[in-house]
Amino acid sequence: MSFADLAIPSPIRSAFTYSVPEGASLEPGMRVLVEFRKKSAIGVVLSLRENLPEGVAPGRIKPIVEVLDESPSLSAPLLELMQWMSSYYFAPIGEAVRAALPARMLDPAPPRTTRPSAPAEIAALHEDAFLLTAEQSFAIEEIAGRARSNAHSTCLIHGVTGSGKTEVYLRLFERLAAEGRQGLLLVPEIGLTPQLAGRAAARFGERVAVYHSALTDAQRHAQWRRMRSGEVDVVIGTRSALFAPLPSLGAIVVDEEHDGSYKQDEGFTYNGRDCAVMRAHLEKVLCVLGSATPSLESAANARSGKYGLLSLGSRTGNASMPSVEIVDMRAARRSGDGMGFSSLSPALHRAISETIERGEQALLFVGRRGFASALICESCGERIGCPNCDISLCAHSDRRGDFLSCHCCDFRAPYPESCPSCGSLELVPAGHGTQRLEAEIADFFPGASVARLDSDMAGGQKERNRIFRGMRRGEIDILVGTQMVTKGHDFPGITLVGVVSADHSLHMPDFRSAERTLQLITQVAGRAGRGKKPGRVIIQTWQPEHPSIAAAAKNDFEGFLDAELAYRKRAGYPPFSKIACARVSAVRQDAARDAAGQVGSILRAEAAGCPGISILGPAPAPVEKQRNRWRWHLLVKAANQRELALVLSRAQARIESEVPRAARVSLDVDPATLM
Ligand code: ADP
Ligand code: ZN
Ligand code: ZN
Repeated sequence: MSFADLAIPSPIRSAFTYSVPEGASLEPGMRVLVEFRKKSAIGVVLSLRENLPEGVAPGRIKPIVEVLDESPSLSAPLLELMQWMSSYYFAPIGEAVRAALPARMLDPAPPRTTRPSAPAEIAALHEDAFLLTAEQSFAIEEIAGRARSNAHSTCLIHGVTGSGKTEVYLRLFERLAAEGRQGLLLVPEIGLTPQLAGRAAARFGERVAVYHSALTDAQRHAQWRRMRSGEVDVVIGTRSALFAPLPSLGAIVVDEEHDGSYKQDEGFTYNGRDCAVMRAHLEKVLCVLGSATPSLESAANARSGKYGLLSLGSRTGNASMPSVEIVDMRAARRSGDGMGFSSLSPALHRAISETIERGEQALLFVGRRGFASALICESCGERIGCPNCDISLCAHSDRRGDFLSCHCCDFRAPYPESCPSCGSLELVPAGHGTQRLEAEIADFFPGASVARLDSDMAGGQKERNRIFRGMRRGEIDILVGTQMVTKGHDFPGITLVGVVSADHSLHMPDFRSAERTLQLITQVAGRAGRGKKPGRVIIQTWQPEHPSIAAAAKNDFEGFLDAELAYRKRAGYPPFSKIACARVSAVRQDAARDAAGQVGSILRAEAAGCPGISILGPAPAPVEKQRNRWRWHLLVKAANQRELALVLSRAQARIESEVPRAARVSLDVDPATLM
């Protein structure tokens, strides 16, 4: 009799052993139907064995009910990737498998739908013919050479915004396709897929698949089957496309590799970029990381020679880098200049009107959606807070009128009549969000057509696409938006970018806040002057001397890198250490605090023999209450990965058995933020 160890989606860490029916031909990676906790479930075979694991009585082993696949659904390298992710991130192997396969394939009773839906047609986006720049040609030859070598390597393409990185990726994929191999392109955000898929479709026709979380289950399943059957040359997708089942993978490209969205922030907290590098390693193929503002980790790996480095230092075609001016808001406010409570300095105001007079487009970035970041009482200073979370409610207005909303838990309430703490009627909105800016702009420039892009927009993807089209056709004069407008979009008509407030992300109590700010400003500034006309960027800030802002203005990434790496080294943060965050939360305040104390004692006890480990905390999280749960955290810093893994795995077992169930404890390895 033989047995199979299965990964079954469940919060339990281990694999589960079942017996293999006589005569069944079973291989690792195949799906099987089993009975699991008195219900039907689908598991994936991790490995086969002739004997039972030690200490397991044969009488307790249940048989596999049915073998569902004729060939493996997960290839050997993907199975290996799952196992690596499970141990690296301390996550149940079943959760890794759940992330990797379309939901339909793990559903023991899939909805009996009609025909599988046909893939949505991708509109080809044709570009004018152009000659590659010398830097592009060099980069393409270098990475194509690496891709041919059948050995893994990782290459960082550090290319300024608009330097034609995407063109380099697509040329690489053309070479791969000529050899019958597939290319996988990961992007941080769904909004970037239509334009990229259009550019890919112009070259690869129908042999393009798009894969992201906005697809329906049926669509995902259909795309998954196309990818696996070798019907596509190129896959473009967000984080979960990392697991694309490609029969002859040639290279993985992670565009905007620095982007925080690659990190899943809840549940199974893996980093898609890091897992892409690991998959490429296991598949023995090339991984390309691309960015105008590489993460400190990748930049350090390129400096040390662990990654290859290719630089694209200038923009393509006739475009040049935009000129950047900093407006010191302290001086602007002091001088008055008729600015009042407006969020626009006279310099930015003037630049906008000149831009639209010339018939060009302006993009204005503001770090927050909504109308204002808080409602403040002018007489006692009280900020109206969320009853469920330890943060202020943001002011919003829409067709139904004004209301307050929590950006964490979505709690909504009407504006209060008076201050809940002193009764005063003087409640004023403080800070600027996209809605307030949009309204201000419409007042100042009544003839202009103004659009807003943020996650509050009604109409979802359709409305976003309408705005993208309007921008490309020049029908919109001024676009106001959040982070959403900063990423990767290519609107050649934008000649002015205004960063209305650059300081928002500087104040986060997080060791990555300087890096984040530099990336954000560089990316948003990079939207200016991508076409024939030169671009201009105006950055409004209260801290013009801050290194992130100064470096972004001078486009001095290397200088920033020197300074920031020195700081990280001094403070013992990545890339000079490995860190993990233990997050503890509970409904009751004392339960959270007590559990955090317990987790701290366990971690310290388990780290006792490891000189390279230090443990900070427990401390209340910067946002101490979220969605009615009190939150504490601890930071584990380690000199190397091996020690970190050792301590965390020993601690995890004890946490699970010793810490009361009233508290939730999760381990986040390589946390993206410490909030
Ligand atoms: P990046 O990804 O570096 O921001 P893209 O690849 O999106 O840049 O290129 C920006 C624009 O320049 C695109 O519209 C693209 O079609 C165009 N482009 C790319 N390479 C060249 C080139 N060598 N000459 C002229 N235009 C180019
Ligand atoms: Zn008050
Ligand atoms: Zn809330």
